[in-house]
Amino acid sequence: MPELPEVETIRRGLAPHLAGRRIESAAVLRDRAARRQPGGAAELAARVTGRRVTAVDRRGKYLWWVLDDGATLLVHLGMSGQLTLPAAEAGPDRHLRAAFTLDDGTVVAFRDQRTFGWLWACDLAPSRHDGRPVPAPAAHIAPDLLEVTDRARGPAELAHRIRARRSGVKRVLLNQEVVSGIGNIYADEMLWAARLDGEVPADELGVRRLAGLIRAGRAVMERSLAAGGTSFDSLYVHVNGESGYFSRELAVYGRAGSDCPRCGATVVRRRFMNRSSYLCPRCQRR
Ligand SMILES: [Zn+2]
Repeated sequence: MPELPEVETIRRGLAPHLAGRRIESAAVLRDRAARRQPGGAAELAARVTGRRVTAVDRRGKYLWWVLDDGATLLVHLGMSGQLTLPAAEAGPDRHLRAAFTLDDGTVVAFRDQRTFGWLWACDLAPSRHDGRPVPAPAAHIAPDLLEVTDRARGPAELAHRIRARRSGVKRVLLNQEVVSGIGNIYADEMLWAARLDGEVPADELGVRRLAGLIRAGRAVMERSLAAGGTSFDSLYVHVNGESGYFSRELAVYGRAGSDCPRCGATVVRRRFMNRSSYLCPRCQRR
């Protein structure tokens, strides 16, 4: 599933092609892709056609095109959504859900094999957390880890918010109303980097320890961005169809049975909320 670094990689790839361009036509090929839009696919196409894209923005895993009428096209990639610039000679594409043709002839394709992704042409609204204009359906999403760590006091402030919770610290990291953009992969990697067991209750950790965890998360995400994100299969790709290479640098996620890169102990897998957690039992003692 794409997390913050993957969505940000796509945003950076897309922005130079979209900014300043007018959307000549929009074709929504599957109604399911517009299932959140109150008026469905027809309304979505009508709201974006003829509009100029002024910017491509993001918070957490939410990515949106800012339109010149003050509205936005919100894109959520779900499990397997892709925004690609297909080569001109590309043939029939059974995973194509929507296509947007720009005034310079560029076509932006929304592809989605597992169909959990969606598009929504909607208005901007102030975030409930910091007032920043975001798509109205994302108003409840907290600032993401990159936004938080861009501010000098950000890590300490977030540490206080995390400490106010009683559940395990990993569970708090995944709560998009506390901090957004962190999914299972980066939660496990940042907990390993900070030598913390994710099951430790958040309110048992000190502010300095938690601020260190937040800064470790920033560092992991920066390294992933430099590698173009994490691709475990062909589902997550850049706008040009290429994979990211951060999976080669993962320390623990998906690596049960291999050696911890720091101490050599065997990485273990643990059950966590119908999913898995990966950790080093020696470095990450409770
Ligand atoms: Zn270790």
